[in-house]
Amino acid sequence: MGKKFKRVPADVPVSDLNPLNITCGSTKCDDGLHCFKTSERVAKKFGSRGVCKECGANLIDWKRVYQNNIKDAKFIFKSMKNELIRHVYWHTPIDRDAIQIALKFTREEMREHTKKVLKTKIGSSHNAWDGRQTPMTGKEIVNYAQHATATCCRKCLEYWHNIKKDDELTEEQLEFCTDLVMLYIEERVPNISNKNDEK
Ligand SMILES: [Zn+2]
Ligand SMILES: [Zn+2]
Repeated sequence: MGKKFKRVPADVPVSDLNPLNITCGSTKCDDGLHCFKTSERVAKKFGSRGVCKECGANLIDWKRVYQNNIKDAKFIFKSMKNELIRHVYWHTPIDRDAIQIALKFTREEMREHTKKVLKTKIGSSHNAWDGRQTPMTGKEIVNYAQHATATCCRKCLEYWHNIKKDDELTEEQLEFCTDLVMLYIEERVPNISNKNDEK
């Protein structure tokens, strides 16, 4: 396997990036693709939180994003796409088997399935997993969606959705995360069927 870029060099185009050669901390600031995970060190360095950990770019309207309002999903996704890892997941080709499997579900079933996956993986505080533990690729479309929507682990959930790492997810928060994932799946697999469609 090739190496993972931390700071993607200028001569590597964004189109060469994929889930296997970057991590959630990777940046390509020259192309406007950052990482907003704020550590204490970063907060001190730039004198503020929620800025790019590498270049300090202050691009996100956190107050608005933190409303966790699904009706504002367009804005939330637009904000997230300033982050390299999210950008890549919104554009990367999805494994063909993952799509085939997804197409076996109706939209309703997929939503139910998504909610179950999220509840198991990020629902409680004991699985405050590090992003790496949600597979970066593979046959589970929900995993792609999780990385794209920052519902992959409790760290991402905390800095993108202001859901504290030590708290159990409320039903409302779980619904919100499920809706985010479903919006991704519907965009990436547009022919996923409605309940009443012929199968
Ligand atoms: Zn940056
Ligand atoms: Zn994560």
